[in-house]
Amino acid sequence: MAFDPSLLRPLFPILSQPAYEHPLTYLDNAATTQKPLAVLDAIQNYYRTGNANVHRGAHFLSDRATNQFEHARHTLAHFLQAPEQSHIIWTKGATEAINMVAYGLEHVLAKGDEILITSLEHHANLVPWQQLAFRTGARLRVLPLTSSGEWEAEFAHYFSDRTRIFAATQISNAIGTTTPMQTMLDLAKQQGAFTLVDGAQAVAHYPVNVSELDCDFYVFSGHKMYGPTGIGVLYGKQHALEVLIPYQTGGEMVRHVSHQATEFNVLPYRLEAGTPNIEGVIGLAAACDFLSAQDRSALLAWEQSLAHHVYTRLHKEGGIELHSPENSTTLVSLSVPNVHLLDLNAYLDSQGVAVRAGSHCAHPLMAQLGVSGTLRASFACYNTLKEADRFCDVLIDAIDLLN
Ligand code: PLP
Repeated sequence: MAFDPSLLRPLFPILSQPAYEHPLTYLDNAATTQKPLAVLDAIQNYYRTGNANVHRGAHFLSDRATNQFEHARHTLAHFLQAPEQSHIIWTKGATEAINMVAYGLEHVLAKGDEILITSLEHHANLVPWQQLAFRTGARLRVLPLTSSGEWEAEFAHYFSDRTRIFAATQISNAIGTTTPMQTMLDLAKQQGAFTLVDGAQAVAHYPVNVSELDCDFYVFSGHKMYGPTGIGVLYGKQHALEVLIPYQTGGEMVRHVSHQATEFNVLPYRLEAGTPNIEGVIGLAAACDFLSAQDRSALLAWEQSLAHHVYTRLHKEGGIELHSPENSTTLVSLSVPNVHLLDLNAYLDSQGVAVRAGSHCAHPLMAQLGVSGTLRASFACYNTLKEADRFCDVLIDAIDLLN
């Protein structure tokens, strides 16, 4: 039977409200997704029945909170197919996870070493590496897309014996292009580089198997996969996490402290200084359970069909530049010559259609595309075909009006 998003919509009460007397059409899912009742309930239940600090007190509530917190780590390990739950490190989000790795690996870099990223990266997977290169004398190299949006056929030569770190996104947040990740990871590993995969735009759509990917690090944010804000994950292989110098120190991450020296704790605690975001961790585990209970292939096929439907409709219209590939899984990114993006955005908003206009934290990619920004409609499992059509209809009206 075909996937029916209307069955999921009651689980997302926020979607049933009007926006300026129009039906709310939420197509800004690449920025953040809405949260199902299961996530809202998990957070509320934690505060109603289990609130206490974890790993510290020896009392009923503290034990309950600690058990729930560590069970969530188990849920995440299972969700990512990680071999050990101690390989799951809680972070604020993808940005913090990448910064943790960029600081933690500083000691392995020498002048002239290379850090390789792609031209698709969100600033979160660019600026930390650029700053690391400034601090160490390493060179930041960028694996480019061609002007037609394809990967260069000969991209293998970007990987050399100087490549110490390879960090790339699975899916571009700005234009929806998918990276040939396994091929790139194989090339990086042949050179003995550390590998980091930015899964921020992938986890909500694709089941992730970090053991199969065989990357050293995998990062993502909870809020883009139906979980709460302020919580994310750094997955790492044991040896890779052990190489990281903790970039924050303090309570929780220590075993013994004297005024002379500190003995750090074992993984995962060694990389988790201070009281963690307990409600976020519990909410994120609930989001994983929500996703795991779905038919993931059906969800993916549905999201792909929405993106493809919008792409095909807009492709037939004159005067719209589509910046996404035709087979984008998750989103459609476009610009309209001679019409300002913010005007389009304002008109769509006035009709209750929520999209994102701007550079999507990807200035170098926008420069390569020759635009200052794009208008992006991004899809999630609860979006309907009617919403995809409403976006197209309102956009076409806006272009007529503003041209
Ligand atoms: N990487 C990608 C591909 C993203 O799309 C984003 C956010 O949009 C990030 C990293 C940063 O995520 P956060 O701001 O949740 O840390």
